Amino acid sequence: MIYFDKVCKVYPNSTALEEVTFTIEPGEFLSIVGHSGAGKTTLLKMILAEDVPTSGNVYFDSVDIHKVSKSKLPLLRRRIGSVFQDIRLLPNKTAYENIAFTMEASGRPDDEIRSDVPHVLDLVGLSDKMTSFPHELSGGERQRLAIARAIINQPDLLIADEPTGNLDPINTAEIIEIFKKINEIGTTIILTTHNKKVIDNLGRRVITLEKGRVIRDDKEGKYAL
Ligand code: ADP
Repeated sequence: MIYFDKVCKVYPNSTALEEVTFTIEPGEFLSIVGHSGAGKTTLLKMILAEDVPTSGNVYFDSVDIHKVSKSKLPLLRRRIGSVFQDIRLLPNKTAYENIAFTMEASGRPDDEIRSDVPHVLDLVGLSDKMTSFPHELSGGERQRLAIARAIINQPDLLIADEPTGNLDPINTAEIIEIFKKINEIGTTIILTTHNKKVIDNLGRRVITLEKGRVIRDDKEGKYAL
């Protein structure tokens, strides 16, 4: 599904990625770990085509992401959902409206919006918060809403950059359970985290980055930093 072929990213004062090569198969749940500055966010940006490699190629289903024309990029991006540590919700819209807005933006009809929004809110355990505004939600609930929004258009791939970075252990565990559920229904997941417990509990594939290089790629990884 995703293939990094000798990807390098050099910034004026640092090398963020160096000869990074790996493949991600459909349905995988991959975690990426590494100290701050190891290149995790840069790697995710390459997949989202938010930045271009200095050399090397990134393929999404055999398509070179960075050779896709600007007009076709939105179609590709629609296949990827993303969640970040700084939860980017619309403050003046309710939980329901935050998700409905995303569906409207991608041209989904009203009847689908009416049926799908309650369904996805149920999946993330927010059925009773449909009319709440983001400031009325806890940190964990806000992150669950951001996840609901990221998956509402049924992406093939979900990217989560430190999604539990600001959460306590209980909320972190809940978020990870939701990711597992999403993965079980067929969505490929790439997660970056600093959280050793998350990695050890998942027991799934872990790629470890150090100074922009892949130093480990373990099938049933343990946190080894
Ligand atoms: P991580 O997510 O693992 O903390 P990043 O991918 O954010 O690491 O950063 C990797 C390296 O690239 C760091 O040395 C960082 O300072 C550098 N870097 C990241 N983004 C930029 C940028 N836009 N301009 C210059 N340097 C950058």
